[in-house]
Amino acid sequence: MALTIEVERTQAPKQKPDVSRVGFGTVFTDHMFMMDYEEGGGWHSPRVVPYQSITMDPAAKVFHYGQTVFEGLKAYRTADGRILVFRPDQNFKRLNHSNDRMSIPHLDEELALEGLKKLVQTDRDWVPEVEGTSLYIRPFIIATEPVLGVAASKRYIFMIIMSPVGAYYAEGIRPVKIHVESEFVRAVPGGTGSAKTAGNYAASLKAQEEAALEGYSQVLWLDGVHKKYVEEVGSMNVFFKVNGTVITPALNGSILKGITRDSMIQLLQSWGVPVEERPVSIEELYEAHRAGTLEEAFGTGTAAVISPVGELNWRGEKLTINGGETGELSAKLYETLTGIQSGKLEDKLGWMV
Ligand code: PMP
Repeated sequence: MALTIEVERTQAPKQKPDVSRVGFGTVFTDHMFMMDYEEGGGWHSPRVVPYQSITMDPAAKVFHYGQTVFEGLKAYRTADGRILVFRPDQNFKRLNHSNDRMSIPHLDEELALEGLKKLVQTDRDWVPEVEGTSLYIRPFIIATEPVLGVAASKRYIFMIIMSPVGAYYAEGIRPVKIHVESEFVRAVPGGTGSAKTAGNYAASLKAQEEAALEGYSQVLWLDGVHKKYVEEVGSMNVFFKVNGTVITPALNGSILKGITRDSMIQLLQSWGVPVEERPVSIEELYEAHRAGTLEEAFGTGTAAVISPVGELNWRGEKLTINGGETGELSAKLYETLTGIQSGKLEDKLGWMV
């Protein structure tokens, strides 16, 4: 990491909001991180600058062909005032995995982490204090070359922006109703499902909108070929507890490799709870429910940590899980991971930076 990160401080700091009143991702901190790439010159000019609009040519490839990748992670303030970031090395590793798939040049993960740390330090007063709140961090790369040919861009910008967010469960953790999606699919084998790229999210909106009209808060995505195997829930990974064993779909190339997912698996294994990563069919889950062995279901992701599933609706056939209440194991995983993130519990696995 030979490049030095310059810091230009803002002359006009903004008023910090009351995070209990701001919507997710609507308010941004005083600074942002930027770094440029040009073919031949590689990544250069890493810098922390005042948060600002950027000017781009309308022909920039990102606007037309969606050549872009992003990440999402959080920083937390501990009771004794330290600031901890959860497993940021894993996010930059995944960003490079997404870069591979989208033909974007790799980043130096160490430099990206240094940039992130410098940005968080510059805006440290923006990490909220109230329990359950955090600073959401959004690293992303866009293709900026102003050429309409369908080919990988020769220029990119890497940026990190940050947004203070309120407690996800301000009114307590609450199970959600899930529509099992039988028409649209999120990803297919050989597609981009395991990359965190804009198009996956644009393509998911239609199913989400239709499910919302029916009163469901998320969709459960089935595999793109047979619509038989469970993949993810909304933009979260998904877990089921069946007869004491925790089962989650195996990473098959069309599922995003969630960092919360990996952390949950490690926690469960450390507690001696059996965990299986394998294909899980929706039929198997309905059968387990009929047999009375489908004990819990939950999604995992950075935003909510855990989102318990209280009801599934597959082709009109509804089932209620754990009486529509949060399961014991879901609650324990939530308490443990949020405890580690907020510095209340010992970080035995060395996740916090
Ligand atoms: N799947 C998708 C499609 C996602 O967008 C996310 C959020 N990044 C996840 C799963 C969960 O990943 P993580 O635990 O790293 O937030």
